[in-house]
Amino acid sequence: MTSAQCCVDETCYTCRYWHEKSEWAANGDRVIDPSGIMDGAPVARVDGQHFILKPYDQTGDRQWLGFRGCEITFRFSDGREVVSNDVWSQGEIPARFRERLPDNAVIVSQPQEPTP
Ligand SMILES: [Zn+2]
Repeated sequence: MTSAQCCVDETCYTCRYWHEKSEWAANGDRVIDPSGIMDGAPVARVDGQHFILKPYDQTGDRQWLGFRGCEITFRFSDGREVVSNDVWSQGEIPARFRERLPDNAVIVSQPQEPTP
């Protein structure tokens, strides 16, 4: 992926994918999910990587969780901390979208395996 535009009018799949994330950023860094499943989940952008922080899962069934249920703590630029054990990565934000999708958080604890 280069910093050059991949298409003339940002209508390709990749651009539409990151346009959606830009709408989430404008929504107070919260997911917009018409299905409701992830609606309102916080969005974290750390070192150009994009993450969805789903609510802390208490069911104990880790196999379906993001990062296999590892607990990760994010600190947002406003000082708020969010801990999730169901973090989903959307990958690296293309350079041409970085201005629209600036970093808004840091990871303050590396992924922790839950104790068995
Ligand atoms: Zn494109």
